Amino acid sequence: MQLIFMGPPGAGKGTQAQLLAALWKIPHISTGDILRACVVAKTPLGEKAKAYMDAGELVPDGLLMDIVQERMNQPDAKAGWILDGFPRTVPQAAFFDTLLCDVPGGGPTSGKDCALRAVNLDVPDNVLVTRLLSRGRQDDNEQTIRRRLQVYREQTEPLIEFYRDREQLVAVDGDRSMQEVTAQLQQVLSRNS
Ligand code: ADP
Repeated sequence: MQLIFMGPPGAGKGTQAQLLAALWKIPHISTGDILRACVVAKTPLGEKAKAYMDAGELVPDGLLMDIVQERMNQPDAKAGWILDGFPRTVPQAAFFDTLLCDVPGGGPTSGKDCALRAVNLDVPDNVLVTRLLSRGRQDDNEQTIRRRLQVYREQTEPLIEFYRDREQLVAVDGDRSMQEVTAQLQQVLSRNS
């Protein structure tokens, strides 16, 4: 199982990814979690990333590519994974294609033998803002939320077409209860894999 979870901030992809990864016994790899851990640990990477994250901007592609490459080469990634928050830009997706050709257990990245599926959780903006404001993470203030949504529409949303063109897109309505979304994901992903 090789899954990419996409969707705007607040779509619930982290929650669903964590739940399904535990169920399927594969790692949940969240670039947001990795970056936040680097910020807390004050590593050089964390020091570079912090200002972007606090402003609701994307961290530069190059830093993400290094993080993901290192993580994908760890032994637990062989059996599959759920990637949450990556790729988030078209250059990241292109990089990921070349990376998947090299990692152990990676396999083909396109064509009918490809195991990769990109899941998009769709949720309207007004619901997202309400959810994020009640979550209260450090970067969840109104100004940053608006910027993150704008960045998502500009830089990440084009990936929906990217994966649709490659017949790897799985679209799911995220504007329902957590349990309903989980059930829907289980249903469509078992049919697709
Ligand atoms: P959200 O829950 O809002 O979708 P994440 O926890 O996935 O946010 O990520 C938080 C922040 O980390 C983002 O706003 C961004 O600054 C940075 N980040 C995470 N993943 C990426 C990525 N793939 N490319 C660039 N920046 C990223």
